[in-house]
Amino acid sequence: MKNILKNFLIFFLILAVISTIIGFFSSQNTNIEEVSLAKLVQQVKDDQVKSILVNGNQLNITLKDDTQQTSKKELSESLTEALKNYEVPTDKIAAIDIKVGEEPDSGMFFTTILPFIIPGLFIIALIWFMLRQVQGVNNRAMTFGQSGAKLADDKRKRVSFKDVAGAHEAKEDLMEIVEFLKHPQKFIAMGAKIPKGVLLLGAPGTGKTLLARAVSGEAKVPFFHISGSEFVEMFVGVGASRVRDLFKKAKKASPCLIFIDEIDAVGRQRGAGLGGSHDEREQTLNQILVEMDGFDNQTNIIVIAATNRPDVLDPALLRPGRFDRQVVIDLPDIKDREAILKIHAQGKPLDKDTDINMVAQRTPGFSGADLANVLNEAAILAAKENKKTINQLTILDSIERVLLGRERKSHILSAEEKKITAYHEAGHALISHMLKNADPVHKVSIISRGRAAGYTINLPKEDKKLQSYSGFIDTMAVLLGGYAAEKTYFGEVTTGASNDLKRVTDLARRMVTEFGMDEKLGPRTFGQKEEMVFLGREIHERRDYSEKTAEVIDQEISAYVNEGLKTAIQLVKEHKDKMEKIVDALIKRETIEKQEFESLMA
Ligand code: ADP
Ligand code: MG
Ligand code: ZN
Repeated sequence: MKNILKNFLIFFLILAVISTIIGFFSSQNTNIEEVSLAKLVQQVKDDQVKSILVNGNQLNITLKDDTQQTSKKELSESLTEALKNYEVPTDKIAAIDIKVGEEPDSGMFFTTILPFIIPGLFIIALIWFMLRQVQGVNNRAMTFGQSGAKLADDKRKRVSFKDVAGAHEAKEDLMEIVEFLKHPQKFIAMGAKIPKGVLLLGAPGTGKTLLARAVSGEAKVPFFHISGSEFVEMFVGVGASRVRDLFKKAKKASPCLIFIDEIDAVGRQRGAGLGGSHDEREQTLNQILVEMDGFDNQTNIIVIAATNRPDVLDPALLRPGRFDRQVVIDLPDIKDREAILKIHAQGKPLDKDTDINMVAQRTPGFSGADLANVLNEAAILAAKENKKTINQLTILDSIERVLLGRERKSHILSAEEKKITAYHEAGHALISHMLKNADPVHKVSIISRGRAAGYTINLPKEDKKLQSYSGFIDTMAVLLGGYAAEKTYFGEVTTGASNDLKRVTDLARRMVTEFGMDEKLGPRTFGQKEEMVFLGREIHERRDYSEKTAEVIDQEISAYVNEGLKTAIQLVKEHKDKMEKIVDALIKRETIEKQEFESLMA
């Protein structure tokens, strides 16, 4: 509507400009006197006329004194004839320089016809514009049900398995898929059914999208990329029609690979959830399944779907003939982290003495995307400081940046706050050092980062796949170390411990309700997490235990937390000398690294 209005305005503006121009020209014309043919004859007889330009019936007269005049004659007879009819002597006619113009009607065309034609043209143009716009709306409505899948077939940006570091098992599994895409006949000849779907399971940033891309790159087939959330729109039925469209396009491009990212957005267990998009998801999911069931052995399309929430997926997705292959991608271990860092270090001028292995050591739990981010932050930091290369210190600093947010040197603590923070962090550090199942201290600092006033970084000696009960017990004491130190040395606690308390409570709750680590409650889980899509996302916990058990759970959680606090208070009281040493060092230097900390404790 707005556009049409705008077009109208532009149209009137142009019309106004044109009519002024035409008006200008025609008013110039009126400056020239128009005379009757009789008067012209008189002037010819009086020898006043120098020349006459004939344009059809239009006569442009130039007198001997150079005044311009116009006149008209009848179209049918020539000027000479007309003059002769007025009985002008022939010698007088011969004395006039008579020229015949080439475009007899041009004058009339410009002054009389054009002003009608131009607005006419504009009106036609305007109507055309408006029609086109209406059609544009229609067109958009027509494309609404189209998939909008992005086809990535750019040969220059092809990703291969070389670009994916680590993930060896996943790559091996996917190698098979590449074979299926490249040489399907080999398998069909053996009477084998080629799998249609592969599900990639892994935490965010572990390289699921990257691997899927690499499969298409290795097999050199087109790659259709769509995200599960793109199927879910406001209107019911859109998702299903998008799925149809996507598979139709893919069939045309076969052999090819369809990648459905975040399939949990549509593939959630049916029948769970309340939201309005519930039916929609069900329809979309059904359509995906119908399309996949419709593949025959000649359809050389493989669907790869990715999710980080396999627990919520509808079992129907996982049945044979659908996503029956599952490839799990773990967070990278230390070797893989080093390899990933090396890939992302390419094209970045690293200092000669940078130790990528050490960076890998310091980043347990980081995903591939986090590691890429670390090096990117380091590059940004180095560029900001106008350095020629990226050095080790910059990279280590970026690890903490990615982990905790930026250092906020400007956030200056008062002397009192500094002292409290130093004791708080010293509490965490001391207890990590004292308890053998806790992760060793890597760094203690009272420079605020992100929202924390100070921080202590504990890193495991090696990557852990399993966590133990004793590890949890010690970790809870470490988490409460800050609280214990504040309480012991200042007699009261500050808000600085709030995040620690949250983490300790969460940990205790999971020990009791998820891991079956509590003696009293025994080896079972409590509560079923399910996702309700109602007013946005939220995780709702369904109680599958009695009111009485709920009480016991609460008691047990509190018991664990109190136990942890007891250990922590005892340790910070007992090792006052060590506490003081750490605090002094922190107040003097603000940050203590691992080696320095260990020599302080020795
Ligand atoms: P996901 O889809 O699992 O969330 P992505 O595939 O989008 O993760 O990964 C994000 C980015 O992280 C990739 O573009 C890549 O730069 C980096 N990355 C992740 N895993 C790896 C890996 N194994 N090797 C190299 N780069 C990786
Ligand atoms: Mg992804
Ligand atoms: Zn703390």
